[in-house]
Amino acid sequence: MNPSEYQLLLEVLSIETHSKEEGAMIEFLLSFFAKNGIKAWKDAMGNVYAEKGEIGNYQKYPLVVAHTDTVHRIHGKKIIPKKLLLPNFAGELKPALKGFDQDGNPVGLGADCKVGIALCLILFLRQPVLKGFFPVQEEIGAKGAEKVDLSFLPNIGYAIEFDSPSNTSSITLGGKLMYNPSDENGLGIIFTKLLLEFSEKRETEFTLEQHSYTDIVKLRPHFSCVNVPVGYYLYHTTSEYLLEEEAFFALDIGEELIKRAGYRYYNDAPHPSVRRLITQFALNTMEIIGEL
Ligand SMILES: [Zn+2]
Repeated sequence: MNPSEYQLLLEVLSIETHSKEEGAMIEFLLSFFAKNGIKAWKDAMGNVYAEKGEIGNYQKYPLVVAHTDTVHRIHGKKIIPKKLLLPNFAGELKPALKGFDQDGNPVGLGADCKVGIALCLILFLRQPVLKGFFPVQEEIGAKGAEKVDLSFLPNIGYAIEFDSPSNTSSITLGGKLMYNPSDENGLGIIFTKLLLEFSEKRETEFTLEQHSYTDIVKLRPHFSCVNVPVGYYLYHTTSEYLLEEEAFFALDIGEELIKRAGYRYYNDAPHPSVRRLITQFALNTMEIIGEL
């Protein structure tokens, strides 16, 4: 993440937005896209859509996704992200951003899902070809994503949401398999290989987990989806913080995933045992970090 991209992250994190009161974030998105010459629009509910570049006849767009609401109420006292040293998943202190208001009181940073929004915007600046979906009202039941404009979906090959807490990736949402690492032609094998490579090269680790829901649960019937670990901790509390290094990893993972998955269509096969997939991934992670 270069310095101007980091500034964009801070700018997005300072926007106050709450379920059904996403107006400031929607306006920010639409003006960002307009400023950068990228086609974007909103639907009646406030979901924002964006599209950049052209694909060939047999190609599909990668889609990036992040929701525009947070659980934190609008207070009008600003959200100022401050850098502190806070624990990562392993308890090691690392540079992290935490949100304070203008009086110095901790307020929810709302990195869930504003870090995801920032990462999507950075990818729009970097990628020549991309679609984006930014739904409202995720935190009250993925209501925006439920009402996605279906005419936006047919030329999409797969979705990358940036909304998985800390170092985890949602392999299932609401019991539905988002990707299958055992499908040789799937998105899951590309994504999990990438996570394993990152754990080795960046000296970190990732886990696959079964989470309740986020927006892509509504998109999964149409194509394979992944939820990238983005490094937010203690989410939905005023103590929420964002591990910078993990947010930077998320950007690199997203970019590398698009490079490897390309402009193709994926619909990973079902698997009889999600538990087994999770165990296999954990075994691989342990081999890499040398715990076996
Ligand atoms: Zn979220």
